[in-house]
Amino acid sequence: MYTETRDWITTNWDRDITLRDWWARMNDACLSFPRWPTEWFGRNASQSDQSAILKAFSDADVIGAPTGLGVLMGAPITMTYGTPEQQQRWMPALATGVEGWCQLFSEPGAGSDLASASCRAERDGDEWVINGQKVWTSGALDSTRGMLVARTDIDQPKHKGLTYFIIDLEQPGIEIRPIKQMNGMAHFNEVFFTDARVSDADRVSGVNNGWAITTATLGFERSGLSEGAGGGIHVSAGTQAGLLDRSVGELVAKSKKARSHPDEYGGVFSTLLEIAKTRTLTPSQRNRMVSLYMNEQIAGYTRLRMSAAAKSGKETGAVASTMKLHWTNGLKISRDLGVELLGAEGMLVGQDLPAEGTVQHFFLSMPSASIAGGSDEVQHNIIGERALGLPKDMSLDPNTAFKDIPRN
Ligand SMILES: Cc1cc2nc3c(=O)[nH]c(=O)nc-3n(C[C@H](O)[C@H](O)[C@H](O)COP(=O)(O)OP(=O)(O)OC[C@H]3O[C@@H](n4cnc5c(N)ncnc54)[C@H](O)[C@@H]3O)c2cc1C
Repeated sequence: MYTETRDWITTNWDRDITLRDWWARMNDACLSFPRWPTEWFGRNASQSDQSAILKAFSDADVIGAPTGLGVLMGAPITMTYGTPEQQQRWMPALATGVEGWCQLFSEPGAGSDLASASCRAERDGDEWVINGQKVWTSGALDSTRGMLVARTDIDQPKHKGLTYFIIDLEQPGIEIRPIKQMNGMAHFNEVFFTDARVSDADRVSGVNNGWAITTATLGFERSGLSEGAGGGIHVSAGTQAGLLDRSVGELVAKSKKARSHPDEYGGVFSTLLEIAKTRTLTPSQRNRMVSLYMNEQIAGYTRLRMSAAAKSGKETGAVASTMKLHWTNGLKISRDLGVELLGAEGMLVGQDLPAEGTVQHFFLSMPSASIAGGSDEVQHNIIGERALGLPKDMSLDPNTAFKDIPRN
């Protein structure tokens, strides 16, 4: 599969074509998302074929498949729970990177306890009217649509009165405000809804069945986070990101120039390897490099176990949680080892440093990884309850109507 893919890249890569055309070519060849099913632009590929394809794109140093939450979570949700009509409408734009999606779950009063979401959706004929606020919405400014969980019935207990929609973000009732982070980026946003509208045709699954779709989305997020984006150079999907009509040659040059901050967590292991090769490591540092490698290998095997379980219809929530913890464990070791290897330079920030300041940028980004996609503590709770059979986490309000639960 590796040689076949390299040959395909040699024949098809053309620095002058647009990103839109490149992603269309990749999609036509079923190389963007090989593990997706054949009816949705994939190959139903095995793990080893998938790895070979990703490696071919990385080695060729060309742009890889579209990245973002739309392909990480929106596409699997659409393929699994969408109606045939929704699948026809949404899948092509996701697969070819024409649309980027964001995840409208967290609220100021609902993070780990996401079932407490209070953003309202009220029925108005064939539409729903949305009022409320979301927060920490990654990539909202670059997104065409959002996966929205909203409260549709306040008389039901909190897990039972939620409904899941795919909402169009380009409308007057939605205001998006960026939030500045300590690493200098503004990766996530607050999103305000004031009489925003979503069609009932864009509801995924039944009214008040949103919790099931929400937890499935989180499962795709947690297992996918540790997998990282596909091989090759990462470029965000979506018309709003403004890159679709630029030439791929220009985007590759730009990405290499900005290599110091490719994204917040990506590529740190290979950067550490590069730095480690230029220094004499202490036994403890060597041990931690090996731990990182082992963490990667275990994550790979756990991923295989999870795919097999998903294919046979088994519940994968606890395994997805272990995948997320593999990811953050690796990032924590990398964070500490990275600045340690750099010594005094580890305290500086800037592009004129070893590895163009990637390690320091990563150090400032890392705390968010333990929170994103559900905090590490919450993943431990899920593993304790669902895999180890420990007593359930305390919950005071599982059967109380949402409207009667005291809130700030
Ligand atoms: C980089 C990043 C990107 C994000 N992107 C998105 C996004 O795109 N869309 C979106 O909707 N949200 C997003 N989030 C939000 C994220 O999902 C929430 O921050 C997360 O679920 C935690 O919620 P919270 O911030 O309200 O913290 P809280 O839930 O208030 O938690 C605070 C602390 O209490 C601990 N805690 C809470 N409950 C328990 C418990 N039962 N047992 C043990 N400890 C507990 C937590 O571990 C945490 O340390 C993102 C967050 C980050 C950091």
